Amino acid sequence: MLHINDVSKQFQVPPTLALDRISATLYPHQTVAIVGPSGCGKSTLLRIVSGLDHATSGQLEWQVDNPHVALMPQNDGLFQWRTVVDNVALPLFIHKLPPATARQAALDLLAQFELDEFAHAYPDQLSGGMRSRVAFLRTMLAEPTLIALDEPFGALDSMTRAGIQRWLVSAARQRALSILLVTHDVEEAITLADRVLVMSARPGRIIADYPIDLPNRTDPNLRTDPRFLHALTSIRVALEQGAERR
Ligand code: ADP
Ligand code: MG
Repeated sequence: MLHINDVSKQFQVPPTLALDRISATLYPHQTVAIVGPSGCGKSTLLRIVSGLDHATSGQLEWQVDNPHVALMPQNDGLFQWRTVVDNVALPLFIHKLPPATARQAALDLLAQFELDEFAHAYPDQLSGGMRSRVAFLRTMLAEPTLIALDEPFGALDSMTRAGIQRWLVSAARQRALSILLVTHDVEEAITLADRVLVMSARPGRIIADYPIDLPNRTDPNLRTDPRFLHALTSIRVALEQGAERR
Protein backbone atom coordinates (compact mmCIF):
# COMPACT_ATOMS: atom_id res chain seq x y z
CA MET A 1 0.00 0.00 0.00
CA LEU A 2 2.76 2.44 0.95
CA HIS A 3 6.47 2.14 0.34
CA ILE A 4 8.56 4.46 2.47
CA ASN A 5 11.81 4.70 0.51
CA ASP A 6 14.98 5.97 2.13
CA VAL A 7 13.27 8.85 3.88
CA SER A 8 15.59 11.23 5.75
CA LYS A 9 14.74 14.43 7.61
CA GLN A 10 17.22 17.14 8.42
CA PHE A 11 15.95 20.06 10.51
CA GLN A 12 17.89 23.29 9.99
CA VAL A 13 17.30 25.10 13.30
CA PRO A 14 18.80 23.64 15.38
CA PRO A 15 20.64 21.42 12.89
CA THR A 16 19.23 17.97 13.64
CA LEU A 17 19.25 14.82 11.57
CA ALA A 18 15.94 13.40 12.83
CA LEU A 19 15.46 10.50 10.40
CA ASP A 20 18.19 8.60 8.63
CA ARG A 21 17.15 6.64 5.51
CA ILE A 22 13.93 5.08 6.77
CA SER A 23 12.53 2.35 4.53
CA ALA A 24 9.45 0.27 5.26
CA THR A 25 6.43 -1.12 3.46
CA LEU A 26 2.95 -0.85 4.91
CA TYR A 27 0.36 -3.35 3.70
CA PRO A 28 -3.40 -2.79 3.68
CA HIS A 29 -5.46 -3.96 6.66
CA GLN A 30 -2.41 -4.29 8.87
CA THR A 31 -1.55 -2.48 12.05
CA VAL A 32 2.11 -1.58 12.09
CA ALA A 33 3.65 -0.20 15.26
CA ILE A 34 6.83 1.84 15.43
CA VAL A 35 8.62 1.85 18.76
CA GLY A 36 11.65 3.88 19.64
CA PRO A 37 13.09 6.07 22.36
CA SER A 38 11.89 9.61 22.90
CA GLY A 39 13.33 12.02 20.33
CA CYS A 40 14.17 9.35 17.73
CA GLY A 41 11.92 10.88 15.07
CA LYS A 42 8.66 8.95 15.47
CA SER A 43 6.38 12.00 15.32
CA THR A 44 8.44 13.43 12.47
CA LEU A 45 7.94 10.24 10.46
CA LEU A 46 4.18 10.28 11.13
CA ARG A 47 3.98 13.92 10.07
CA ILE A 48 5.78 13.10 6.81
CA VAL A 49 3.52 10.09 6.14
CA SER A 50 0.49 12.31 6.90
CA GLY A 51 1.66 14.96 4.45
CA LEU A 52 2.13 17.60 7.18
CA ASP A 53 5.87 17.79 6.59
CA HIS A 54 8.29 16.89 3.80
CA ALA A 55 11.19 14.50 3.74
CA THR A 56 14.58 16.10 3.03
CA SER A 57 15.36 13.13 0.80
CA GLY A 58 13.65 9.89 -0.11
CA GLN A 59 10.04 9.33 -1.18
CA LEU A 60 6.68 7.97 -0.20
CA GLU A 61 5.30 5.68 -2.89
CA TRP A 62 1.59 5.01 -2.54
CA GLN A 63 0.14 2.02 -4.40
CA VAL A 64 -3.41 3.38 -4.17
CA ASP A 65 -5.25 6.25 -5.87
CA ASN A 66 -5.96 9.37 -3.82
CA PRO A 67 -4.34 8.25 -0.60
CA HIS A 68 -5.54 10.06 2.49
CA VAL A 69 -3.98 9.76 5.93
CA ALA A 70 -5.86 10.77 9.07
CA LEU A 71 -3.60 11.60 12.00
CA MET A 72 -4.79 11.29 15.59
CA PRO A 73 -2.38 13.56 17.47
CA GLN A 74 -0.60 12.95 20.76
CA ASN A 75 -3.24 14.97 22.67
CA ASP A 76 -6.63 13.79 21.44
CA GLY A 77 -7.34 17.08 19.67
CA LEU A 78 -11.02 17.19 20.67
CA PHE A 79 -12.64 20.63 20.73
CA GLN A 80 -13.98 21.44 24.20
CA TRP A 81 -16.75 23.66 22.86
CA ARG A 82 -18.19 21.03 20.54
CA THR A 83 -20.33 18.10 21.59
CA VAL A 84 -19.10 14.56 21.01
CA VAL A 85 -21.21 14.13 17.89
CA ASP A 86 -19.96 17.42 16.45
CA ASN A 87 -16.39 16.45 17.23
CA VAL A 88 -16.79 13.09 15.50
CA ALA A 89 -18.53 14.71 12.51
CA LEU A 90 -15.72 17.25 12.05
CA PRO A 91 -13.99 15.55 9.08
CA LEU A 92 -17.32 15.49 7.22
CA PHE A 93 -18.01 19.16 8.05
CA ILE A 94 -14.57 19.93 6.63
CA HIS A 95 -15.49 18.00 3.47
CA LYS A 96 -18.56 20.24 3.21
CA LEU A 97 -21.20 17.57 3.67
CA PRO A 98 -24.57 19.00 4.68
CA PRO A 99 -24.46 19.34 8.49
CA ALA A 100 -27.47 17.05 9.04
CA THR A 101 -25.86 14.30 6.93
CA ALA A 102 -22.52 14.69 8.68
CA ARG A 103 -24.15 14.56 12.12
CA GLN A 104 -26.19 11.48 11.21
CA ALA A 105 -23.08 9.65 9.99
CA ALA A 106 -21.31 10.52 13.26
CA LEU A 107 -24.31 9.36 15.31
CA ASP A 108 -24.47 6.08 13.38
CA LEU A 109 -20.79 5.45 14.01
CA LEU A 110 -21.14 6.29 17.71
CA ALA A 111 -24.09 3.88 17.91
CA GLN A 112 -22.14 1.09 16.22
CA PHE A 113 -19.52 1.45 18.94
CA GLU A 114 -22.10 1.85 21.70
CA LEU A 115 -21.05 5.39 22.48
CA ASP A 116 -24.25 7.10 21.37
CA GLU A 117 -25.32 7.82 24.95
CA PHE A 118 -22.43 10.33 25.07
CA ALA A 119 -23.30 11.97 21.75
CA HIS A 120 -24.46 15.24 23.27
CA ALA A 121 -21.92 15.44 26.07
CA TYR A 122 -18.89 17.73 25.91
CA PRO A 123 -15.36 16.28 25.95
CA ASP A 124 -14.60 17.48 29.50
CA GLN A 125 -17.57 15.44 30.74
CA LEU A 126 -15.93 12.21 29.51
CA SER A 127 -13.32 9.97 31.10
CA GLY A 128 -9.90 9.80 29.44
CA GLY A 129 -10.68 6.40 27.91
CA MET A 130 -13.95 7.67 26.44
CA ARG A 131 -12.21 10.73 25.00
CA SER A 132 -9.71 8.46 23.26
CA ARG A 133 -12.50 6.36 21.78
CA VAL A 134 -14.27 9.47 20.52
CA ALA A 135 -11.05 10.87 19.04
CA PHE A 136 -10.44 7.55 17.32
CA LEU A 137 -13.95 7.43 15.84
CA ARG A 138 -13.44 10.95 14.52
CA THR A 139 -10.23 9.81 12.83
CA MET A 140 -12.04 6.76 11.43
CA LEU A 141 -15.06 8.64 10.08
CA ALA A 142 -12.99 10.23 7.31
CA GLU A 143 -12.42 6.67 5.99
CA PRO A 144 -8.75 7.34 5.42
CA THR A 145 -6.44 5.03 3.51
CA LEU A 146 -4.27 4.96 6.61
CA ILE A 147 -4.92 5.92 10.23
CA ALA A 148 -1.83 7.35 11.90
CA LEU A 149 -1.77 7.30 15.71
CA ASP A 150 0.88 9.23 17.63
CA GLU A 151 1.20 7.80 21.15
CA PRO A 152 -2.57 7.92 21.36
CA PHE A 153 -3.06 6.59 24.89
CA GLY A 154 -0.02 8.16 26.57
CA ALA A 155 -2.07 10.10 29.10
CA LEU A 156 -4.20 7.15 30.28
CA ASP A 157 -3.63 4.98 33.33
CA SER A 158 -2.66 1.38 32.65
CA MET A 159 -6.10 -0.20 33.35
CA THR A 160 -7.84 2.23 31.02
CA ARG A 161 -5.13 1.68 28.44
CA ALA A 162 -5.58 -2.09 28.47
CA GLY A 163 -9.32 -1.63 27.92
CA ILE A 164 -8.96 0.77 25.03
CA GLN A 165 -6.25 -1.37 23.44
CA ARG A 166 -8.64 -4.33 23.32
CA TRP A 167 -11.32 -2.02 21.93
CA LEU A 168 -8.98 -0.73 19.24
CA VAL A 169 -7.88 -4.23 18.22
CA SER A 170 -11.46 -5.32 17.65
CA ALA A 171 -12.33 -2.10 15.78
CA ALA A 172 -9.29 -2.58 13.53
CA ARG A 173 -10.21 -6.22 12.80
CA GLN A 174 -13.91 -5.55 12.28
CA ARG A 175 -13.30 -2.72 9.83
CA ALA A 176 -10.10 -4.04 8.21
CA LEU A 177 -8.39 -0.76 9.08
CA SER A 178 -4.84 0.08 8.09
CA ILE A 179 -3.08 1.65 11.03
CA LEU A 180 0.37 3.08 11.67
CA LEU A 181 0.87 3.44 15.41
CA VAL A 182 3.77 5.20 17.06
CA THR A 183 4.45 4.44 20.71
CA HIS A 184 7.29 4.11 23.18
CA ASP A 185 5.29 1.40 24.99
CA VAL A 186 6.54 -1.95 23.72
CA GLU A 187 3.68 -3.91 25.30
CA GLU A 188 1.17 -1.65 23.58
CA ALA A 189 2.94 -2.20 20.25
CA ILE A 190 2.85 -6.00 20.62
CA THR A 191 -0.78 -6.00 21.77
CA LEU A 192 -1.98 -3.98 18.80
CA ALA A 193 0.30 -4.63 15.88
CA ASP A 194 0.78 -7.24 13.20
CA ARG A 195 4.35 -5.99 12.87
CA VAL A 196 6.60 -3.94 15.10
CA LEU A 197 9.32 -1.77 13.60
CA VAL A 198 12.04 -0.79 16.05
CA MET A 199 13.83 2.53 15.70
CA SER A 200 17.27 3.46 17.01
CA ALA A 201 17.95 6.57 19.03
CA ARG A 202 18.39 9.73 16.94
CA PRO A 203 19.09 9.86 14.07
CA GLY A 204 16.21 7.45 13.79
CA ARG A 205 16.80 4.34 11.72
CA ILE A 206 14.77 1.18 11.48
CA ILE A 207 16.84 -1.51 13.13
CA ALA A 208 14.36 -4.38 13.33
CA ASP A 209 11.05 -5.52 11.85
CA TYR A 210 9.24 -8.14 13.96
CA PRO A 211 6.14 -9.97 12.79
CA ILE A 212 3.82 -10.52 15.76
CA ASP A 213 1.89 -13.76 15.64
CA LEU A 214 -0.75 -13.71 18.38
CA PRO A 215 -4.12 -15.20 17.52
CA ASN A 216 -6.30 -13.85 20.29
CA ARG A 217 -5.46 -10.21 20.96
CA THR A 218 -8.44 -9.49 23.15
CA ASP A 219 -7.60 -12.29 25.61
CA PRO A 220 -7.08 -10.59 29.01
CA ASN A 221 -4.18 -13.02 29.60
CA LEU A 222 -2.43 -12.05 26.38
CA ARG A 223 0.52 -10.62 28.29
CA THR A 224 1.38 -13.99 29.81
CA ASP A 225 1.39 -15.80 26.45
CA PRO A 226 4.92 -17.12 25.83
CA ARG A 227 4.84 -15.66 22.30
CA PHE A 228 4.03 -12.25 23.77
CA LEU A 229 6.89 -12.52 26.24
CA HIS A 230 9.29 -13.68 23.56
CA ALA A 231 8.44 -10.72 21.33
CA LEU A 232 8.75 -8.39 24.34
CA THR A 233 12.25 -9.62 25.15
CA SER A 234 13.44 -9.50 21.53
CA ILE A 235 12.17 -5.97 21.00
CA ARG A 236 13.63 -4.71 24.29
CA VAL A 237 17.01 -6.14 23.37
CA ALA A 238 16.81 -4.45 19.95
CA LEU A 239 15.87 -1.14 21.59
CA GLU A 240 18.82 -1.35 23.97
CA GLN A 241 21.19 -2.10 21.12
CA GLY A 242 19.69 0.82 19.18
CA ALA A 243 20.28 3.14 22.11
CA GLU A 244 23.92 2.11 22.44
CA ARG A 245 24.67 2.41 18.76
CA ARG A 246 25.17 6.18 18.84
P1 ADP B 1 9.78 11.48 18.87
O1 ADP B 1 8.38 11.66 18.39
O2 ADP B 1 10.35 10.12 18.52
O3 ADP B 1 9.93 11.74 20.33
P2 ADP B 1 10.31 13.78 17.18
O4 ADP B 1 9.99 13.30 15.82
O5 ADP B 1 9.34 14.65 17.85
O6 ADP B 1 10.72 12.53 18.11
O7 ADP B 1 11.69 14.59 17.12
C1 ADP B 1 12.88 14.04 16.57
C2 ADP B 1 14.00 15.04 16.70
O8 ADP B 1 13.77 16.14 15.81
C3 ADP B 1 14.12 15.68 18.08
O9 ADP B 1 15.49 15.86 18.36
C4 ADP B 1 13.41 16.99 17.94
O10 ADP B 1 13.93 17.94 18.84
C5 ADP B 1 13.72 17.36 16.51
N1 ADP B 1 12.65 18.19 15.91
C6 ADP B 1 11.35 17.83 15.78
N2 ADP B 1 10.66 18.80 15.16
C7 ADP B 1 11.53 19.79 14.89
C8 ADP B 1 11.43 21.08 14.26
N3 ADP B 1 10.27 21.51 13.75
N4 ADP B 1 12.56 21.83 14.16
C9 ADP B 1 13.73 21.40 14.67
N5 ADP B 1 13.90 20.20 15.27
C10 ADP B 1 12.82 19.40 15.38
MG1 MG C 1 6.59 12.12 19.43
